Amino acid sequence: MTEFVKMTRYSRCKRYSGALIKCPECQHIGRVYHLNWCAITCQNCREMINKYDWLVEKGKHSKRLGDS
Ligand SMILES: [Zn+2]
Repeated sequence: MTEFVKMTRYSRCKRYSGALIKCPECQHIGRVYHLNWCAITCQNCREMINKYDWLVEKGKHSKRLGDS
């Protein structure tokens, strides 16, 4: 079971497998391969969602403080 946390500026996605993100509006789960965007449109509900409103899968991809 994938746990999701709010996107932060420390969020990372793995270069090859990407990261799962969940729409805060409709809970639709999608995959992104980089976080080099400010906002993207949910493919399910068509809402424009700001980057930091998305939820991102918790764990290995999230926060490595001091790692830029
Ligand atoms: Zn949505």
